[in-house]
Amino acid sequence: MGILEKKVAIITGAGRGIGRVIAVELAKEGASVVVADIDENTAKETADGICSSGGKAVSIAGDVSSPEDAKEIVDKALEEFSGLDILVNNAGIVRDNLIMRMTEDEWDLVIKVNLKGAFNLIKSASRVMLKRRYGKIINISSVVGIMGNVGQANYSASKAGIIGLTRSAAKEFASRNICVNAVAPGYIETDMTRNLPEEVKKAFISTIPLKRAGSAGDVARVVKFLASPDSDYITGQVIQVDGGMVMA
Ligand code: NAD
Repeated sequence: MGILEKKVAIITGAGRGIGRVIAVELAKEGASVVVADIDENTAKETADGICSSGGKAVSIAGDVSSPEDAKEIVDKALEEFSGLDILVNNAGIVRDNLIMRMTEDEWDLVIKVNLKGAFNLIKSASRVMLKRRYGKIINISSVVGIMGNVGQANYSASKAGIIGLTRSAAKEFASRNICVNAVAPGYIETDMTRNLPEEVKKAFISTIPLKRAGSAGDVARVVKFLASPDSDYITGQVIQVDGGMVMA
């Protein structure tokens, strides 16, 4: 029996990349999964893939930056699987530019999707979790939210914001047995990073003590731990999955 049997999980941005691998990993452990993504087709592909391997999944198209969509995503979990135990806020975007050149739209959009998106889902999901007196919320931050990065002021600020949001939610919800943690990946090979120039990739890897990029699986296995009863006494933490790139 899987460690997440009878649990219901929402994963945002699960149409591809790290989110898809998280959805597959949680479903393998027995969770019923709601695959949410702004891209309806990729969301469906992820859910179909899980179902054809014997897992339980449904997909829903939704934009996390919309409070109405966030509510619909939570309602989908209740309608299809009659509950909600795990929320993984993974949806994220980049619009890189130097501060001098960054447009207001580039700033606003990244904060709206990455930070407000997580708030929207937490707000909707917590209504259910508070009543059930159980919940695991896992927010995907980034090491650049800890160390900053040239050309990523908007993205780094959104990911640093995720850490403050995580700790505040952890304190607000602790008395109801809801654990809230963040995972901060380092350099992970996905569609988001695949198109970086080779020299940039090499420069990144030279700063990683383990001397390799991480995989989506490296992140997903930590999310699985934080979603499971094995982490019941952990809340308000930021777990870096970065090959040692940033050591405090
Ligand atoms: P990705 O671009 O491959 O996938 C992101 C997914 O989110 C896509 O399927 C996209 O359609 C979806 N999405 C985008 N905007 C959305 C919205 N408004 N509403 C709902 N869904 C939306 O990215 P990835 O590399 O898999 O990254 C996943 C998460 O991990 C992101 O939060 C990212 O910031 C974070 N992260 C990635 C890395 C990395 O090296 N790849 C490092 C640190 C953190």
